[in-house]
Amino acid sequence: MSRTVLHIAIPSPLRRRFDYLAPAEAVAPGCRVRIGFGRRALVGVVLGSSAHSEVPPDKLRPVETVLDAEPLLPPEILELLTWASTYYHHPIGEVCAAALPVALRQGEPAQPRTLRRHALTAAGRAARPDELKRAPRQAALLAHLQRLDAPAGAAELDEVEGWQGAMARLVEKGWVEVQEAPALPAAGTASDTSPPLAAAQQAAVDSVSAAFGRFGGFLLDGVTGSGKTEVYLRLIAQNLAAGRQTLVLVPEIGLTPQLLERFRRRFPAPIAVLHSGLADGERLNAWLAARAGLAPIVIGTRSAVFTPLPQLGLIVVDEEHDPSFKQQDGFRYSARDVAVVRAQKAGVPIVLGSATPALESLANAAAGRYTRLELPERAGSAIHPHLHLLDIRHQRLDGGISEPLYGVMGRHLERGGQVLLFLNRRGYAPVLLCHDCGWVATCRRCDAHLTYHAGQRRIRCHHCGTERPVPQQCASCGSHDLRPIGHGTERVEEALRARFPDIGIERIDRDATRRKGSLEEKLARVHSGAARLLIGTQMLAKGHHFPDVTLVGILDADQGLFSADFRAGERMAQLILQVAGRAGRAERPGEVLIQTHHPDHPLLRLLIDQGYGAFAAAALEERRQAELPPYAFLALLRAEAPAAAAPLAFLEQARQLAEGLRPEGIMLLGPVPAPMERRAGRYRAQLLLQTASRPALHRLLDRWLPLLEESKTGRKVRWSLDVDPGEMF
Ligand code: ADP
Ligand code: ZN
Ligand code: ZN
Repeated sequence: MSRTVLHIAIPSPLRRRFDYLAPAEAVAPGCRVRIGFGRRALVGVVLGSSAHSEVPPDKLRPVETVLDAEPLLPPEILELLTWASTYYHHPIGEVCAAALPVALRQGEPAQPRTLRRHALTAAGRAARPDELKRAPRQAALLAHLQRLDAPAGAAELDEVEGWQGAMARLVEKGWVEVQEAPALPAAGTASDTSPPLAAAQQAAVDSVSAAFGRFGGFLLDGVTGSGKTEVYLRLIAQNLAAGRQTLVLVPEIGLTPQLLERFRRRFPAPIAVLHSGLADGERLNAWLAARAGLAPIVIGTRSAVFTPLPQLGLIVVDEEHDPSFKQQDGFRYSARDVAVVRAQKAGVPIVLGSATPALESLANAAAGRYTRLELPERAGSAIHPHLHLLDIRHQRLDGGISEPLYGVMGRHLERGGQVLLFLNRRGYAPVLLCHDCGWVATCRRCDAHLTYHAGQRRIRCHHCGTERPVPQQCASCGSHDLRPIGHGTERVEEALRARFPDIGIERIDRDATRRKGSLEEKLARVHSGAARLLIGTQMLAKGHHFPDVTLVGILDADQGLFSADFRAGERMAQLILQVAGRAGRAERPGEVLIQTHHPDHPLLRLLIDQGYGAFAAAALEERRQAELPPYAFLALLRAEAPAAAAPLAFLEQARQLAEGLRPEGIMLLGPVPAPMERRAGRYRAQLLLQTASRPALHRLLDRWLPLLEESKTGRKVRWSLDVDPGEMF
């Protein structure tokens, strides 16, 4: 007797599909089912069915429950996920799970949850926040609701700290009513009109819109403030008018309230927002609205690339060079690259926008795979900032800042400008040293120093999170003379307060913005002019507009110059220009000073004297000569274990297995210990595969991975494969 067999993607580390007996009724691919897996009950996604299985009939278990009457994942998404699973050599079950909101992954019905939303009444719309002087929180909440001008759920309200209590008062006053409905994502107000486009913007819009209805890759290359977002908005408007959906991908840190408000002010349509900070219910509803075609605009971070969109007409990837598009653990995909494949499969145009395009994307444009669209000028009358290197060799530094930089800061502050200082290192000092014997505080679980945090009086490992109180004495000699060495943002802030006692200062980094709403409060003080000196990490580099900043100081450009990672120079250049782009966005010209001990470094010089294009051309030439991406393809096999020898033993065996497969044209480099060998108590090592032929690499991986899965030494370690690795450690 033959019965239908379902091939199912199950979240498991095994690289295969699992077969189960189908129930009596037909189950289409893309439906979820609940199945017994070992002794657990799991949720899987049906990939297909057939009359045969390699599993003996008496070993086949039946599906327990069919969770969806109709496919949750449409065929084109299943195809995309299957492609991604094959390309990244990652288990299809984990790939499918990554594509689903948590609620659906856990088997919840594919129906919007009823969420509580708060809407202004007519009286609430007419009420004046400034008349609530004695209830500042209610005033802030009322102003926020009026700005949103749409029913608001927890996701929108969390921007106002402690909103729950204030909301109860506003409801009592009759200004807000509570709605309980399976709500659509909030629609925008369309209160903004678009400005007339500059010629280059218009040319970019025309070029992309001529490709509506078919695939086309476009690299929109324009400095910060050149009007890229305006180009996206125009294209989205055209796509919307044609009744089609747009998918907008932004980096983790790029999805700011300002960006969302800008979209909401432009479009009357519901905008579905998808990012990891959302409550499960909000995410579920947004995803379902997108899948049902009810949200014409979907803005999200990385995993939003897998959202089903029945009327997809356009994809936009903003800040396409941003490393956060590449997932760094588990299913290590690049959302930008998957987005390009999705656009190809769907036959729609894709716009990759950046002020500092990835070298990969520039090479793709040079090879004719993308059309390059340039926006050479800043929009409106804003002027490009001038970049200068500041040689700090032999200079006395106070709080990491040289006297010449203090001098320029003083002049800008006197003239009423704001100053932004950038240092990509939080904490007070990266090292705590015993002045008597040379002992330094190190992490017991990592090969790393502990960072001294003065505010919380703790020392902390930035790699594993271990922390403890600041020691009073040296652990080695007992001396009390422990000294912080080097500078983090906290220490810079301290020096600034001593130098500029009368100026408002804000520090913006992960430590200073841990409390919900504190980032918004800090930004508000900067925008109101109450704070005129800012010190921050890369949290400051993206998304935020500081129109009154006239001087940007980059305190340490040298971090990226001598790294083990071949992408470090590219990242440094991108970060410098991103930060520089914060200055002089309005009519005030900006100045950018970059402190370095290497003022003659050739790549740094090119960047400063001739700009990112010249830098990128030289960096690409270096990559060509070193046979590195984009002129070669990499895969990195990583392994880690509590025992020092195990990862290297496994990787050595892996290397021999690969050699047994005669990998023609593929170089095997390693195994070697990772640049930071011990992390969170585990020893780590890696084996790099490098080749000029992508097909040859994938042919090898196809045959190699099954051997690795069977390896006994492999069971003693945790191993993972990273195709197109973004980081080399
Ligand atoms: P980018 O995304 O490249 O940083 P934006 O689109 O945010 O640039 O534009 C920078 C600023 O210039 C914004 O305030 C925007 O409203 C404004 N802007 C953009 N295009 C125009 C235009 N054609 N005319 C006037 N202002 C514009
Ligand atoms: Zn000591
Ligand atoms: Zn650690």
